[in-house]
Amino acid sequence: METTVLKKIWLSPPHMGGNERAYVNDAFETNWIAPLGPNVHEFENAIEEYVANGVHAACLTSGTGAIHLGLQLLGVGVGDEVLCQSFTFAASANPITYLGASPIFIDSERDTWNISPSLLEEAIKDRIATGKKPKAIVAVHLYGMPYKIEEVHAVARKYEIPVLEDSAEALGSVYKGFQCGSFGDIAILSFNGNKIITTSGGGALLCKDKLIKEKAVFLATQARDNAPHYQHSHIGYNYRMSNVLAGIGRGQMEVLEERVAARRANFEYYEKNLSNISEISFAKEPQGSLSNRWLTCILTPSFDVREKIRMALEKENIESRPLWKPMHLQPIFEKSISYINGVSEDLFEKGLCLPSGSSMEVSDLERVCEIIKSELK
Ligand SMILES: *Cc1c(COP(=O)(O)O)cnc(C)c1O
Repeated sequence: METTVLKKIWLSPPHMGGNERAYVNDAFETNWIAPLGPNVHEFENAIEEYVANGVHAACLTSGTGAIHLGLQLLGVGVGDEVLCQSFTFAASANPITYLGASPIFIDSERDTWNISPSLLEEAIKDRIATGKKPKAIVAVHLYGMPYKIEEVHAVARKYEIPVLEDSAEALGSVYKGFQCGSFGDIAILSFNGNKIITTSGGGALLCKDKLIKEKAVFLATQARDNAPHYQHSHIGYNYRMSNVLAGIGRGQMEVLEERVAARRANFEYYEKNLSNISEISFAKEPQGSLSNRWLTCILTPSFDVREKIRMALEKENIESRPLWKPMHLQPIFEKSISYINGVSEDLFEKGLCLPSGSSMEVSDLERVCEIIKSELK
């Protein structure tokens, strides 16, 4: 007897629009395989137009690289302290250490699950009291939900500390009419394979000052001085995006709005079909916020219920994943100073990301919901 293997449902697979191939073909036909080339510039233009509000975009090899360059451009260096949202992916925090600086982790608030403005201020006061003013703040729009923009930036302004806005998961999210990626002194995007749009791998640094973009591009291309020979007076990096991959990005930008709509429709489907189960709840959008709903997350009453659901889905060939494990609980950051209120630990224990790809069909969503419902009966 043959056993039928159920179709795999992934958490967040790539979803091509169609025109990506044409732009990649352009790169081949014109031999703009390398170096830079028109796809990079057109992709940057498309990002600048979309995020708007006067941002300049520099496309790079990854979001992680963009954070590394961004922190350096904000003046972070050896021995500095950088305040960083604890509830995030490790790539928000790792680049702090590349610069010889130390991350100081800040817990989340309940509404958006992002950096708590009150805890942030408490930490700043405390760090200043110990004699060291933090050099930068890394704030993250986790799962696409805008962090408390006004409150966080008010604290940052009050103490004159620049904000690096980690918008890796939030392209297409909006706060009071402005796109995420347009709020920080420097912002970053990611086009990694699991994000709302992808270039297979890639990222971008966004800033309002054209000179900062030029500096980022300079550092990202080995920091070559203006001379006919190879002359260097700064340490550079090899972080610029390839023209081939930027071709994928151009095609993806054309369908970004559709991708946001599809992810939001997934969320609405799950909410409609699961919120009458008393054990399951969802994060609401605060007034003024629109999340791209990159991943739909549910909260359950306990670790055990969360695991019960996750295992049941896994058995049916469906990928789901616990929420990000907070940085202050990670072995690599064991010795880091953190300001903790219990929120991110609680979310990590009880939360689960459901399959959220923009290519999901209603029958896929139905399958996921049926399994969850029958587990919790
Ligand atoms: C994906 C991600 C990054 C890193 O982006 P890469 O392009 O994968 O290097 C940074 N921060 C957050 C919150 C992310 O989800």
